[in-house]
Amino acid sequence: MSKAQVVDVVIVGAGMAGLAAALWGKRLGLECVVLEQSQQLGGQLHKIHNTIPDYPGLVCDGAGLVTQLESQLNALEIAPRCNAMVQRVDWENQVVVCDEVQFETQALVIATGLEQRRLRVPGSEKWEDAGVYLSYNGHKEEFAGRAACIVGGGDGAFENATMMADECPHITIVYRGTSPRARQSFQEQVDGLSNVEVLYESDVVKVNGEESVTGVEIQGPDGTRSLEVEAVLVKIGMEPRTRWMGENSPKLSKGYLTVDASQQTSLPWVWAVGDVCTPQDPSLSVAAGQACLAMRAIERRLSSV
Ligand SMILES: Cc1cc2nc3c(=O)[nH]c(=O)nc-3n(C[C@H](O)[C@H](O)[C@H](O)COP(=O)(O)OP(=O)(O)OC[C@H]3O[C@@H](n4cnc5c(N)ncnc54)[C@H](O)[C@@H]3O)c2cc1C
Repeated sequence: MSKAQVVDVVIVGAGMAGLAAALWGKRLGLECVVLEQSQQLGGQLHKIHNTIPDYPGLVCDGAGLVTQLESQLNALEIAPRCNAMVQRVDWENQVVVCDEVQFETQALVIATGLEQRRLRVPGSEKWEDAGVYLSYNGHKEEFAGRAACIVGGGDGAFENATMMADECPHITIVYRGTSPRARQSFQEQVDGLSNVEVLYESDVVKVNGEESVTGVEIQGPDGTRSLEVEAVLVKIGMEPRTRWMGENSPKLSKGYLTVDASQQTSLPWVWAVGDVCTPQDPSLSVAAGQACLAMRAIERRLSSV
């Protein structure tokens, strides 16, 4: 492990919340390091393909907003580090560990957003990305010609069924609710597909396989039964990305970081911004506003010691 670097603020995550925090940090004269696990900045912005209708003063899609943010960061000589995943935080000694580098910091801003919820039943982890997938678009070849199961009952589940129906001989949507949450238009499209079946009040409780996925166990109103499928698509919503924080982390509620009015968590040197602490109404405006509140509070704190 290399020598520790000493900084004012470490910001984890370079989505809208983390980048807004970096901009405010620069403006307030704080020395910030921004660490982003993926190879690109922007987080969920890359999923917004329509024109964003509700962010004041902007008329562009998510990719357009990323481009504007990048030029804003460049102009201010802010250089977030990509491919830099924070693996661990020493919560007692205020040390953030990322790859071979340790950062000793006065303040930590957690902006790690949301990730897709995983299935977490026996067999699902073993076959992740080898029969059990979180996305259809990234794995079209693995679904082609195979009987598939889609877990979930929202837009993601029903829309993907319409996209997969030409490629998969049979698709079973398994949903624990009594009626779908997907928008009406997706439901109507699915109703018109002869090779798509929907099982309600049902849970996938196990993924079976030997050399590859061979089926799933489904628990429904009539008990447990096996379904032969070769590919499983999981579309069961999003969850806050906080598992990486490990033991002794700041307080969570249903996986989300809890914060006070200045975005401070239960630890006095740790703040949280964006979707990772916003179970209700996550949005770009909220993320940007929270970043401002947090960085101003941090600046006040650091200038008072
Ligand atoms: C399809 C879609 C459409 C949307 N449309 C709108 C809209 O029209 N208007 C609106 O206001 N909002 C919209 N939203 C919501 C908005 O995109 C989010 O509220 C916002 O982008 C959240 O930003 P964030 O920075 O909190 O999180 P994220 O964008 O999730 O960013 C978190 C970042 O942290 C990184 N990270 C995670 N863990 C680590 C780690 N351990 N180490 C390093 N980096 C890590 C991730 O890779 C990611 O880049 C939409 C969202 C989606 C998915």
